[in-house]
Amino acid sequence: MRDSIWNKAVGGRIAREKNSALAMIGLYCDGKHGKNQNLCSECEALWQYAKARLEQCSFGEEKPTCRACPIHCFQAEERRKIREVMRYSGPRMLLPHPILALLHLLDGLTPKRSHLRDP
Ligand SMILES: [Zn+2]
Repeated sequence: MRDSIWNKAVGGRIAREKNSALAMIGLYCDGKHGKNQNLCSECEALWQYAKARLEQCSFGEEKPTCRACPIHCFQAEERRKIREVMRYSGPRMLLPHPILALLHLLDGLTPKRSHLRDP
């Protein structure tokens, strides 16, 4: 009982896994299939599949991360695809966005070369 209330409050593990799956598929689609507002149909299908598998996960909120899960519930083809997505997006997810934003800000503060040249 306590767990289900807690999970509702913080979004739960399944919700977190879904978020990160979507983020990774999104990164992958952007990088491999061109930038679009939405996922391309192939990536959308993979996302729907991954989402459905997560929602039906027999471990429920007790689930280990999919990487560590003893039950590989993905079909061979989908597993191959999601692996490719993770291989592509995994390292990129580690790139912390706040640092990128900070670098961008510092960039804006640096005087432009043209200003230095102008008297
Ligand atoms: Zn795509």
